[in-house]
Amino acid sequence: MTVEPWQEPKPTIDHVRRLVQRIQSYARTSRIMGLISSALLVSLMIELGILMYMTYIPLILTGSGFPLPQWFYYLLMLTFVLSMVIYGIAGTVNARLNRYILEYRKIGVVVKLQCDECGRTSERIWEKDDFVFKKAGTCACGGSQYISQMYIMPLPLEKKDALS
Ligand SMILES: [Zn+2]
Repeated sequence: MTVEPWQEPKPTIDHVRRLVQRIQSYARTSRIMGLISSALLVSLMIELGILMYMTYIPLILTGSGFPLPQWFYYLLMLTFVLSMVIYGIAGTVNARLNRYILEYRKIGVVVKLQCDECGRTSERIWEKDDFVFKKAGTCACGGSQYISQMYIMPLPLEKKDALS
């Protein structure tokens, strides 16, 4: 009985490239969502503060509060609803981003193959037991190929998106 080494479709170098692009764009979206939800949270705090100081506190202390216009309550409600929506979207985006990063960690190592004869190079995903200078198949020209380099596919992220 033989054991199949790859149960799932073997990831290709294009797969990793797409993954890297996806991580980059999701990280950007996640950053924007973070900024928007911070801004909404701050405005919600300010609006609640106004409500407290203009209406509730005077109402408790003196029995009559400064009446706030109707639109203020609509604004408060709108800010609250928007915060919830953005919070939900940000959660989804971050969950996807984390999943992509996990996948990237599994398949993000690349080996460069070089032909002995013509010097042509190609890349593929790292496989178990790969090492530098290992013979790895034949080139289109018929020469034998070896592994010339191994590296982690660079992830073009800013430092604050740290992958810890
Ligand atoms: Zn060759």
